[in-house]
Amino acid sequence: MLIKSGSPKSLDLSKCEKEPIHIIGVTQPHGAVIACDKDGNITHASENTEAVLGYNAQSLLNQKISRLIGEDLWNKYKNGISEKAVLETADLILNGKPIIVVPHLSNDKLLLDFEQYDKKSSNYDIQVELTTLLKKLGSAGTINELCSEAVDITRSIFGYDRVMIYKFDEEWNGQVVAEAKKENMESFLGLNYPASDIPKQARELFYKNKVRVISDVNYKPVKLLSNTPHSPLDLTNSQLRGVSPIHIEYLQNMNVGASMTAALISNGKLWGLITCHHSQSKLVDFYQRQTCEFLVGIFSNELTLKNSENYLENIQKKEILKTELLQQVYRSDSIENGLFESALKLTDFIDCNGAALILNENIKGIGEVPDDALIKDLIADFLSKKKESVFFSNQLPQVYPDAARFENVATGILSVRLGDNNDNYLIWFRSEVVKNVSWGGNPNNKAYYNEDKKRLSPRKSFEKWTEKLRGVSNVWNDFEIKGATSLSESINYVILKNQKAEIDKLNKKLLEAHNELKLFSQGLSHDLNAPLRGVSGYAHILKEDHYVDLEQKGRMAVDSILASTEKMKDIIDNVLSFAGLSTKEMVKSCLVTNTLIMDILTQFNIAVNYPKTKIIIEDHIPSMLGDKRMLTQVWANLIANALKYSENTASPKLEIGSVIKDRKTVYYIKDNGIGFDPKYKEEIFNLFSRFSGNDYKGTGIGLALVKKILEKHEGDIWAESELGKGSTFFFYV
Ligand code: ADP
Repeated sequence: MLIKSGSPKSLDLSKCEKEPIHIIGVTQPHGAVIACDKDGNITHASENTEAVLGYNAQSLLNQKISRLIGEDLWNKYKNGISEKAVLETADLILNGKPIIVVPHLSNDKLLLDFEQYDKKSSNYDIQVELTTLLKKLGSAGTINELCSEAVDITRSIFGYDRVMIYKFDEEWNGQVVAEAKKENMESFLGLNYPASDIPKQARELFYKNKVRVISDVNYKPVKLLSNTPHSPLDLTNSQLRGVSPIHIEYLQNMNVGASMTAALISNGKLWGLITCHHSQSKLVDFYQRQTCEFLVGIFSNELTLKNSENYLENIQKKEILKTELLQQVYRSDSIENGLFESALKLTDFIDCNGAALILNENIKGIGEVPDDALIKDLIADFLSKKKESVFFSNQLPQVYPDAARFENVATGILSVRLGDNNDNYLIWFRSEVVKNVSWGGNPNNKAYYNEDKKRLSPRKSFEKWTEKLRGVSNVWNDFEIKGATSLSESINYVILKNQKAEIDKLNKKLLEAHNELKLFSQGLSHDLNAPLRGVSGYAHILKEDHYVDLEQKGRMAVDSILASTEKMKDIIDNVLSFAGLSTKEMVKSCLVTNTLIMDILTQFNIAVNYPKTKIIIEDHIPSMLGDKRMLTQVWANLIANALKYSENTASPKLEIGSVIKDRKTVYYIKDNGIGFDPKYKEEIFNLFSRFSGNDYKGTGIGLALVKKILEKHEGDIWAESELGKGSTFFFYV
């Protein structure tokens, strides 16, 4: 149903919603109400007990209920209450008349409705009635046919002047979708009634009390007497509950003399009401009401079944379309082409005026869609902010006023997000559909404040009132929303698959480039080594055999050639080990750290090369798990640097040890050398970064190599230093 922005504008009817109709304090006269406490003492009695049962109401108060209904029945009810069993109705003869007793619980009290009846149907009659109802309602093909059948049957069974079925929309406005009536009466078919006509608490009562009868709209309410003042009785479950004066006035204004209303439930939700109107008073007794309960029960089942069948059928159709669309996507070179350029289009998937795919900042549209800039704004300012990945509305400008810029192209939208990416969407658009909506009376004057009665009064005129409904598109159905979600999941799968293929391709390229580079650097180093050996060899010959023949300048040149070739060799060796590191297999073992350090120091021949340097090594440094050659390289590089950069201090000192940090063993090497500016503490680990000037030999590769080895061991390295105050390098594996 399409009543939304055109539906009645806000008018404070909250008073109606708050009216406490369940503790109304009066009953209808076609039966008597008596309540008793758990000991069977009568606490409440309606004033009409004399007329219905032959006992004065006042005299009944504080008496035992068993005196009225008999010890046996009372015991049955008492036990039923304590065992939380369903309380059954009972037939009695009271005051010479057949009476049915209908028991209910009302908080801590037992509440009994006493009603006279004419004729009790036999089990056989009930069976015949039920079979007929089942047959007639079960043969209806569509929901509309089911509704027409139901109003005809109801009218023929109960003989009301008019029987209607109201269907509720999402906002609880009701539309008359089926009607059976006396010939000369004006038809209400197709008319809409605002939600406030049946306020919330009245709708809720329908769940508990499925059939509600008002036997005489012009009745005189019967007061409920109580043995203690100010103790209102909850009449929610009583079928004799009095009627709200506002509702009575509403029915009077409609010229209704009696009514019967029953709830129609589909999938556990109040779907609508079946409402019977009679121009005079009309009594429908307990047994007839039961027939009505059977009828709405069967109707509700059929309705649920038909709704589910419709839903499933439509979902199946969507699945077929989805499969076809996906096949197109797989067959074509892109998602865009699959959804827009093939035989079946995205717009064929869901009834719409236009659709768009927003993928990786590209917008592709078909049919009537807003321009790209507007779609971008819609996503950035509205859709991307929604938590849910699905959004739908049949009046977008109401929730996103900027949609008014789209000039009715996007009055309705259904959008689904593709994956977790907040920028990719599938969106279907629906244009405005201007409709004439007829109301039962001007819905803008639903009620007015009645000075005499000091309360709200319902509208007086129910004359057909037609208005143009604007700013609304057709509603999105459940199966369309489900279909869109399902399609988005499949498209998302394709996107992920494409992305994976793309990443695999890039990975392959990267690997090829890496291998090429490795071969290149290995080849280059190898090629450079040969001439370098030549240069170095000749320089050595010069130095050894011809040094004495050379002048001062020549000797300096030979020394410089030898130093340069030495440095060049270092660089080539380091580059080779750096380039080979990433593909080198690790052989892990448990290494005794102190032994490893001692071996390195022995190799460095400290006593000869660094005679001034004092080295303090912690006893029993925890062992390490890793590749022996690589970790030896780590320690050797760090110790070599510490020795090198502290060599020129007055009393060089190295301290080697470990600390526990965040439950990890962190090894450290501390020196009291030249240190470095702390602003370079990250950069020193980059390839070819040197910050120690030309006084110290080096290639700028050592720390980069160390870092790479530690990364391979899932470890890390960092340094603390200050210029002139020494450095400490920390690492863990
Ligand atoms: P190099 O071959 O230059 O020593 P490294 O990669 O080993 O190359 O070190 C990079 C730079 O880090 C060095 O040039 C130096 O500036 C600084 N550095 C490394 N270790 C120390 C240290 N113990 N004391 C002071 N500076 C250091």
